[in-house]
Amino acid sequence: QTVFLSGATGYIAQHIIKQLLDTKKFKIIGSVRSEDKAQKLANNFNNSPDLSFVYVKDIADPKAFDAAFEEHGSKIDFVIHSASPFHFKVTDPKKDLIVPAEIGSAGIFKASVKYAPNLKHFVVTSSYAAVFDILREEDNSLVLNEESWNTMEEEQAITNPVFAYCYSKKVAEQTVWKLAKDLNAKFNINAVNPVYVFGPQCFDSSVTKELNTSCEIINKFIHASPDSPVDESIKGSFIDVRDVAKAHIEPLLNSEKFNGKRLIMDAGRFGNQTIVDVLNEIPQLKGKIPVGNPHRDDELPVKMAKVDNSKTKELLGFEFISLEQTVKDTALQVLKHEGKL
Ligand code: NDP
Repeated sequence: QTVFLSGATGYIAQHIIKQLLDTKKFKIIGSVRSEDKAQKLANNFNNSPDLSFVYVKDIADPKAFDAAFEEHGSKIDFVIHSASPFHFKVTDPKKDLIVPAEIGSAGIFKASVKYAPNLKHFVVTSSYAAVFDILREEDNSLVLNEESWNTMEEEQAITNPVFAYCYSKKVAEQTVWKLAKDLNAKFNINAVNPVYVFGPQCFDSSVTKELNTSCEIINKFIHASPDSPVDESIKGSFIDVRDVAKAHIEPLLNSEKFNGKRLIMDAGRFGNQTIVDVLNEIPQLKGKIPVGNPHRDDELPVKMAKVDNSKTKELLGFEFISLEQTVKDTALQVLKHEGKL
């Protein structure tokens, strides 16, 4: 069975590839933006014959996926759409974040309907950003669940890159659900909505000075001096990348069960201080990084909106990796790469 995976170079996508290959049940066609990125990825996966690539340069082009689907559509059984810009270094939040997310979703969905007659299931990598209201995260009377939606409108979203990213994920996911109806799609669909994703890069060699947006939250503290502040800029929820990858694969193995579902991948609340508390347990870091105000963030679960993802947990049926484990695994990989273990 063949899976088309968009954004194959991504942090999460590489773990999806690894787990798909491990099942020995799937061939993967990954979309990448350039030949050298494909080459590097192929090498990392030991040039697996089950992994091939197509070039999709910019998902902001409405026809970006057409050529690849025209060529390979008839053999595609599953689509996982994970490509989307996730960073906040933008000059124009609408053009750089919202447009590619929305057009990308529409482009791959329409190509799937048009060129993939045997498609059984479409998974869209959405986000908790499509679920929550960023300005109400600290309202502890609020309960969010798999039916919740980010209510921010575009006018406000384009006023800053973080709002715009959240909005981009909302419109990208909504595009999929809407097109499914409008085009009367015959395949099953589900969304995966992760919170901040942590955990090691799929390959030690992929560790770079600055990591992907979510892991950089941890990386920043690994390299911070003892006198740096532990500010309150980050308050959110975490999930490990290996659990997120699993949540993309379960629906391919059990399509009916996951049809129409949104999976909120959330293993619990954390703040910058929670991360620093865990990092300080690592002997190689103790004394070299900030201490902050230990356990300051321990009360966050009761101070913030409640995330009730019990339906997701029941559907998936596996335990999520703990904060301690995910932070330690992320940090130890970085330290190993830097020869500090
Ligand atoms: P990465 O930045 O590592 O991956 C993003 C992927 O999308 C890369 O393959 C990138 O290609 C591709 N991409 C981005 N913009 C374009 C574009 N305009 N045209 C073509 N390809 C593009 O991020 P993650 O792995 O963290 O994110 C993957 C998905 O998961 C995204 O949809 C993100 O929104 C979602 N997500 C991530 C969370 C997290 O905490 N990490 C949390 C919730 C959701 P290239 O490598 O060439 O730049």
